[in-house]
Amino acid sequence: MSIAKIGVIGAGLMGNGIAHAALLSGFQVTLIDAFEAALPKAVATMTKNMDRQVTKGTITAEARDAALKSLVTGSDFALLRGADLIIEAAPEREELKAEIYRTLAPVLGPDTILASNTSSIPITRLATLSGRPDKFIGMHFFNPVPMMKLMEIIRGIATSDATFAAVHAVAEKLGKTVAAAEDAPGFIVNRILCPMINEAIFILHEGTGTVAAIDAGLKLGANHPMGPLELADFVGLDTLLAVMRVLHEGLGEDKYRPCPLLVKYVNAGWLGRKSGRGFYDYTVTPPRPTC
Ligand code: NAD
Repeated sequence: MSIAKIGVIGAGLMGNGIAHAALLSGFQVTLIDAFEAALPKAVATMTKNMDRQVTKGTITAEARDAALKSLVTGSDFALLRGADLIIEAAPEREELKAEIYRTLAPVLGPDTILASNTSSIPITRLATLSGRPDKFIGMHFFNPVPMMKLMEIIRGIATSDATFAAVHAVAEKLGKTVAAAEDAPGFIVNRILCPMINEAIFILHEGTGTVAAIDAGLKLGANHPMGPLELADFVGLDTLLAVMRVLHEGLGEDKYRPCPLLVKYVNAGWLGRKSGRGFYDYTVTPPRPTC
């Protein structure tokens, strides 16, 4: 089936980016948030980001105007009637996502595909909760969505080939390269990336190296664009801890044990960039390593 109308549930960081990318790729988009106040904020962010693209010359002013004209926003799920694909980007809480799928059920057409942008909840479990497991799939975007070239597509055990093919075609239209993954903790990228960052925190915890030495080591010695601790702060230490817990519990191996220093930072409310302090202090420019 071909997809023209996309619904996005959750107008936060990811939902906003997904709507932005979909609009510029020619899809009609309906963006839904349970909190009315989130919607004008999302539209303002999208407009500001598109304006920046116009200034840089990566899109035209006409493309921006046409994209913004194809956007509908609201907080009533009934607005999603007629969507070919609905991408859920609500907070990472299973019971909340389950509630959303229950409320959404009467609005879905027989062929509507439902996708989740979850980073860590098993797709097969969400698919069961959705009540339409053959038409359910994981579309894992990366932040910031309009810039990042990858999309992981994760099949649940019952996801149909037709659902996979339709979502793959959407990814291509969005200009993303697809990494297809089976449903396993952390999928592909987080399964590799998060343990590497966790190991960097262990190295700091053991006193083997400072924040500056660890980040310089990976930037200059392995050609990574960001050091692992800088990246941890960017992702958010609470998010990183949540993914490590999913890996530890789901795979049952000690090598995925979250570093105690990471747990301590999260308990202290030192969550990285978003809280002003993590492995770096963001109240000064440029950010200064905290140890
Ligand atoms: P966020 O908190 O920025 O946004 C979530 C939005 O959902 C908020 O605007 C909130 O008001 C809205 N919301 C809450 N309850 C709702 C409901 N019942 N119905 C509709 N909207 C509701 O979160 P985010 O960072 O955008 O993450 C969203 C999803 O994307 C999560 O599953 C997360 O794991 C996943 N994800 C996040 C990242 C990342 O880097 N932040 C990367 C990949 C995937």
